[in-house]
Amino acid sequence: MNKDDLFEKIVSGEIAANILYQDEFVTAFEDINPQAPVHVLIVPNRNIPTVNAIKVEDEALLGKLFLVAKKLARELNIAEDGYRLIVNCNENGGQDVFHLHMHLLGGKRLGRMLPNI
Ligand code: 5GP
Repeated sequence: MNKDDLFEKIVSGEIAANILYQDEFVTAFEDINPQAPVHVLIVPNRNIPTVNAIKVEDEALLGKLFLVAKKLARELNIAEDGYRLIVNCNENGGQDVFHLHMHLLGGKRLGRMLPNI
C-alpha cells in the first residue's frame, strides 16, 4: 500500500467515504466535494496513478469501471436523462489525486463539456 494514496485508504476502509459499490476489483464512492447532484468516483482497488500508467494487462479492469458506472447510473436514476464520465490526467487535465478514477456526474444538465468550446 502507498501511504500517500488517499483512494487506496478509502478502498481499504482506513478513511471513511460513502461507498456505493465495492467488489474485489473496483470501489465506487461519493465525491467529498460534489460538482453535480450525483458525483461518484469509481476507482480500481489497486493503484494505477494515471492513464499514462495503464498497461495492456489492465484492459479488463478498466472495462469494469465502465460496467460499474453503468450500473450505478441506473441505480441512481440518471441513466435515461444522461450523465458524464470524466477521467483527468496530470496537471493539464486537472488531476489532483494520483490514483486513477472515473468521475460519474449527473442529476442535472451539465452544459458544454468545456466552457469555451
Ligand atoms: P481529480 O481532480 O483528481 O480528477 O479528482 C479528485 C476528486 O477527489 C475531486 O473531485 C475531489 O473532490 C475528490 N476527493 C478529494 N479528496 C477526497 C476525499 O477525501 N474523499 C472523497 N470522497 N473524495 C475526495
